[in-house]
Amino acid sequence: MDTHGLLDTLRREIRRRRRMSARLMVVFSMITVLGFSAVCGSVLIDMRRSAEDLARQTLENLAVSIDADIDRNLELYDSALRTVAGKLLLPELTSVDPAIARLILFDHSIVAPHFGAIRIYDQHGNLTRDSAAPNPAAQNSADQHFFLAQRDDPQLGLFIGKPQQLDGVYSVIVSRRVSGSDGRFLGVVAGSISFGYFQDLFKRLRLQPNDMIAVLAHDGTLMTRAPLTPELIGKNMMFTPGVQKMFERRSGSFAGVGTLDGVKRMFVWSDSTKPLVVLVAKSWDDIYAMWRREAVWIGIALLVLATFVAAVTVFFIGEIDRRAQAERRLEELATTDPLTGLTNRRKFDAAVDAEWRRALRQASPIAVLMIDADHFKAFNDRFGHQAGDQMLVGIAVCIADTVQRASDCASRFGGEEFAVLLPGLSAPAAASVAETIRRKVEQWSNVEGGVTVSIGVASTTPAASQHWHDLVESADRALYAAKELGRNRCVVGERCEVTLVA
Ligand code: GH3
Ligand code: MG
Ligand code: MG
Repeated sequence: MDTHGLLDTLRREIRRRRRMSARLMVVFSMITVLGFSAVCGSVLIDMRRSAEDLARQTLENLAVSIDADIDRNLELYDSALRTVAGKLLLPELTSVDPAIARLILFDHSIVAPHFGAIRIYDQHGNLTRDSAAPNPAAQNSADQHFFLAQRDDPQLGLFIGKPQQLDGVYSVIVSRRVSGSDGRFLGVVAGSISFGYFQDLFKRLRLQPNDMIAVLAHDGTLMTRAPLTPELIGKNMMFTPGVQKMFERRSGSFAGVGTLDGVKRMFVWSDSTKPLVVLVAKSWDDIYAMWRREAVWIGIALLVLATFVAAVTVFFIGEIDRRAQAERRLEELATTDPLTGLTNRRKFDAAVDAEWRRALRQASPIAVLMIDADHFKAFNDRFGHQAGDQMLVGIAVCIADTVQRASDCASRFGGEEFAVLLPGLSAPAAASVAETIRRKVEQWSNVEGGVTVSIGVASTTPAASQHWHDLVESADRALYAAKELGRNRCVVGERCEVTLVA
């Protein structure tokens, strides 16, 4: 490979590297942004999961503590009922004064402010004693559920009734059976738990507006709820898939929608085997509130980073482009003849080298014209160097005007000599172009002392054994022949021979 080929290869390599570095910049920026997005995405997913886990854990703890409170108080009240039921069997009770008997029976029986008076009913449902009234009014509760349930089922244990209004206050009646030593039904001891107990308990928990607590009986009856919604109290909630699920597993959680408000919540229960099952819920909006705020900040930070990376990338790609343009301009200047504006010999050599290889690959012809001004020394001597320069510019215009195809290359070879590369042209076609140039120059400078040109034409279909220098030499020889034959003419060189065409 000669110097021109080497320079060309170097230039191509520089251009390739420049394109590569622009591409690499884009790829690197994209990888940076995508990498950060992936990391932030995975952190956000983790944070979201953590927020969910934390909420589940908090709700479970809440359910456990409410469970424990209800359990403890129910246990205390039940134990008071059982104590009263046990004392009723004491034979001494009938022999003492009724006031003393009342004292014995109800001693320590009131356990908490919201736990109502304890009443004793005989086997016919008649109210016989009342912890709150020494002489209770006659009342029969034989048709009441708390009485019938205990009468009909000796194994029932503690009965918990449905919520109902007692003296204008929502309450739940609880009862225990009084059985004789032989198991005979002797009556019922009953009490009531007012909703005030639950409301006090829920108030202590500092719930958020969208939080929800429900206490349900085993048949799905809603006993109480926070916030209190009277229209749902006492309703059977078994129709909701969530409540059904709750009784299928001892503890767990589910995502559901509020029956009344339509708010989406996470529901958690800790033990559905308890007599009263506690279900607590928190809205997903509240669960994710903090996470959302953090996600917005991370999103903004990511956006800023992506914008910054994009701006830096655009800036550097612009810089690479500007550098390439400046280099292209420099190269243009380095390959342009300053007087005529045609390409110089360096560029011509590079072009002929590239086109020669292409013609070799495609087995197509390639032609070269060597053009020389006739008796130019004499012209200079007569009209001066300046006028000579003008004349050279005129010849260049005539050549450039004739040779206009993109792959053609017209250049000033040196002094008053020009060369034209015509890829794809056979000898007759190239001779025709040469003749056009010759005639144009002749017509244009057809004034007193005008200048003509002689042109040597050479065309060949390159063979691997040849070099483009051979083609240029052949054109040069044809030019020499044209001079020899009297100038102002074109001669086509064929290998070593020459033919006169004009
Ligand atoms: P021939 O027909 O045999 O080519 O005769 P010629 O006088 O053109 O050839 P020669 O090689 O003897 O002279 C070339 C002249 O071209 C010499 C020089 O004065 C002139 N010349 C070369 N370069 C320039 C240039 O850049 N400007 C001007 N004005 N003249 C130039
Ligand atoms: Mg000359
Ligand atoms: Mg010359």
